[in-house]
This record gives sequence, structure tokens and C-alpha cells, in this order.
Amino acid sequence: MDARSARKYSKDDWTKLASEAENKIEGRLFINGEYVDATDGGKFEVINPATNEVYATVAAGTEKDIDKAVAAAKESYKARSWLKMAPRKRMGIMMKFADLVNQNAAELALLETMNMGKPISDCLNVDVPASAVNIKFMAECIDKMYGKVANTHDSALNLSVREPFGVVGCISPWNYPLLMAVWKISPALAAGNSVVLKPDEHSPHSCIKIAELFVEAGGPPGVLNVVSGLGEVAGKALALHPDVLKIGFTGSTEVGKLLLQYAGQSNMKKVSLETGGKSPMIFFADLPDMDQAVDTAYDSIYANMGEVCNAGSRIYVERALYADFVDQFIAKGQGAYTPGDPLDPETNMGPLVTAQAQKRVLGFIESGKSEGATLKFGGGVPDGLEAGCFVEPTLFSDVNNDMTIGREEIFGPVASIIPFDTEEEVINMANDTIYGLCASVWTSNVSRAHNMAKAIESGMVYVNCYDVGDLTFEFGGYKQSGNSKDSCFESVLGYTQSKSIWYNLG
Ligand code: NAD
Repeated sequence: MDARSARKYSKDDWTKLASEAENKIEGRLFINGEYVDATDGGKFEVINPATNEVYATVAAGTEKDIDKAVAAAKESYKARSWLKMAPRKRMGIMMKFADLVNQNAAELALLETMNMGKPISDCLNVDVPASAVNIKFMAECIDKMYGKVANTHDSALNLSVREPFGVVGCISPWNYPLLMAVWKISPALAAGNSVVLKPDEHSPHSCIKIAELFVEAGGPPGVLNVVSGLGEVAGKALALHPDVLKIGFTGSTEVGKLLLQYAGQSNMKKVSLETGGKSPMIFFADLPDMDQAVDTAYDSIYANMGEVCNAGSRIYVERALYADFVDQFIAKGQGAYTPGDPLDPETNMGPLVTAQAQKRVLGFIESGKSEGATLKFGGGVPDGLEAGCFVEPTLFSDVNNDMTIGREEIFGPVASIIPFDTEEEVINMANDTIYGLCASVWTSNVSRAHNMAKAIESGMVYVNCYDVGDLTFEFGGYKQSGNSKDSCFESVLGYTQSKSIWYNLG
């Protein structure tokens, strides 16, 4: 069922669908166009974070399954089953693939919600349609990739052509399970590669489903394979595999660094990384619209339960505006997100992904209190929701860059407001981090906005807005937030390598 029809479902409808799906969800590996069990027969349980109850299983892929999937991908690449198709034919298959994602929106949305607790309305309104749009954008790039002809003397022709790598491994996280996987696989496929996807172990089901949809759309078997399994087992085997020539990864900085090591230990495969963040939002007293600024500030940290790589987790406010900003954040932000059953279409905040994540975020909140920040609201587990992995939307003021909550990526709904006095001071504080994913600057002064945008060490800067734009916006970070760009034409090129060809015409 598509998203438009599914938006009419009530909480009871979704609850019924979820209970009917329980223990029936497809959790096998998808290799060479068919579902298969893990070679060793291993499975692990997937827990619904809203209830902490097991509701499905998934195959525990190992090195043997990665070997099989890579062999299938290699075979499909050698046979040119995908690449030999005319670009517009491949484009047509990817367009159909995107349409099938839209047509299966209800099922995919339900899988996301059950896997990681994302509110069902967010899945239907954001994750699934955004995934389909991303696939279409990458499909449209297929016949728009050009090589170069150099200016040589008449007796030679010097070409630089772009080619796929061959077998690409994609490793994706749980916070936007479908969308982040699509951000990797769709440019990799558009570039002509064969792919093995290793989704996160907490949220594998939507990724397994879309591999089936790719084949239903006409994608040749073996071109898109999915092996679920633990990161340190299946993910590591994929990243160490000698026949994998490129890894596309979204996840933590810690694992990103491991992938660079695995590349060095194995075959020097290329590794593109989109990793963690601690993104500053900087509000000057001359900002153009206080309402919009405050609304954007709390949305940027509470949406998706704060489990967002580019969450605006450090909110710097100029001293002249500080008290008013904190008051307005409390007045508007405290009730804006209410934790609840993610299967209820009215819910805008679900549980965190696991009990472990909940414990970690509550630990950060304790550190904020003990290190001297002022807890303004939230800080605990919401009443009546103790069975799941919920955390209240939380606000700390009087934070500084030396506090743990001012430095570390919390990955939860915890906002930290930090006062500043001068432009120079806030630039230093904003850049005082290992991360460099994203930033925003709020001011009516165009010169200041531009100077700030240039001074901030991050891959993306928004002025008087946050996390908006379209697929032409290059998504990716500086420093330990990554080394590549997603979600743009550049991302397709990242799944190609250039070959120089020199013809002697003399
Ligand atoms: P994670 O790094 O723990 O896991 C990501 C993936 O890596 C999973 O599939 C996991 O199984 C796999 N993995 C884990 N250990 C591995 C190993 N040793 N070898 C190979 N693969 C391994 O990250 P997460 O907790 O799933 O996601 C949250 C992180 O992702 C946050 O840090 C967040 O900022 C980041 N993120 C970044 C972006 C971005 O675009 N920059 C987007 C979304 C999430």
C-alpha cells in the first residue's frame, strides 16, 4: 500500500498490522536474487524498542555469507548483466524500483517503526518518500556522467573516462535504516556497480525488502545483495574482503576509523565515510525571526528522537539574546514533542533504538547535572512508558564546551544551550570539536553570515535555516565527520573511478 492510503490508518489499524506481522517478517539474506538462510543457520532476535519485546528474527550472516554475496555480485559484474544495459534502460529499472518503494510504503514504514521506534508518520511522510526520491535522483544521473577529452597535440587523443569499481560494499546505520541504505546503494547502482549491503543489526528488515523490490523492478540477480549480521562479523568481513573495491559507510566515527584500518589490512579499497557530528547552531542577537529560530532549534534536536547525525546539538546564543531565547525554548519546545507509541499516527517522538542507547543517553543527562549545567526540563523516562526505551525531550542551559554534554555526540533528545559574547569566541567554540558535519548561523547581517560560514570548520553550513534543501545539496562532513558527499550528483561520482586512455594517432 502506498503512503497516501496508509496515512488514513489509525493507531488501531497499525497495531493490528504490527501484530499480524509479528514473527512473519522476512528476515533471510537476499543473495543472487533469492532469499536464503545464513550458511550456519544462525539467527538473532530483533527487539521492538517501544516494548522491549522480541517481535522478529533475522539471519545472522557470517564471513561465509559475505563470501557468497560478494561472489554473486562479482559474477553479475563480470557478466555485465547490469552494466551492459543501455543507460536509459538502467534508469528505467531504477525509476520502477523507486515506484515500488512508494507502492510498498505501508510495509516499509511499519518495518522501520518496529525496528527502531521511529514514529509511523515520520516513516510515511519522510523516510519512505525521501528514499524513493533519492533513487530517482540517482537514476537521473545515469546518462549524465561524462568523461573528459584533454587538449593534446593532433597525433594523440587523451581521454579520461569514469568507470564503476565493480563490487561495492555498503554498510548502513539504524537511525534512518532505509534512507541511509538508499543513500549508499542508489548512487553505487547508478554508477554501474554490483552491491552487497550490510544493514545495521537492529534495523535490517526494510533493507532486505528493498533488495526484493529491486529485482521485481527488473534489476538482474546478484546486482543488489543484502547480508544482515553483526557489524564486527558480517560488516568486518565485507570491509576486509579482497574482491570488494569500495566501501560506502554511514555510521559512527569509531567504526569509520576501523573501516580505514580494514582497507589498509586488505586491498586498499576506497572508503567513503559519513560519520558522527556535534553540530553548532549559532544565534546572534540580530537574527531575523525569533519564532522561526526557536522552532528550528528544538526541531533540530528533538526530531527523530535526536538520533540524527546532523542534530543541532550545541545551541550557541549571543549573551544579549540568551535569557529570552532560553525562555522561549522552554515555552515552545517543552511540549512540542511528546513521547508515545510510535504506531500512533499522532506520535511525534518514539523510543530510542535500544535499552543500551537509552541508558547511554540517561548517563549523559546525569553527567550534565553533575558537571554544572542547569536542567530546564525533561531528563528522565516519561511516565507510563517505562516498558520501552523512551527518554523525555530534555533541555540544559548554562552548558560550556568543557562539559561532556557540550563535547560528545549524545544521539538522543538532549539540547544544550551555551552563551557567547563575541564572534571570535563563538567561532573558536564551534570549531573546538573533532567533528565537522554541519552548522547554522542566524543573523540579519549578510557579511557576518558569510564570514561565519567560511570560518566554521564543517562540511555544511546553513544560514537562517537548518537541515533544509534538496538533493543538489552536498551532504557530508569535514574532520572526523567523514570524507565524502552523499545525496547529490557528486555521490554518484564517488562510486566511480577515473581511467586515463591515451591513443597514439600519429
Ligand atoms: P555504528 O557505527 O555502530 O554502526 C553502523 C554500521 O556499522 C552498522 O551496520 C554496524 O553493524 C556496522 N559495524 C559496526 N561495527 C563494525 C565493524 N567492526 N566492521 C564493519 N561494520 C561494523 O553506528 P550506528 O550506531 O548504527 O549509527 C549512529 C552513528 O551514525 C552516529 O554516530 C551518527 O552520527 C552516524 N550517522 C552519520 C550520518 C552522516 O551522514 N554523517 C548519518 C546517519 C548516522
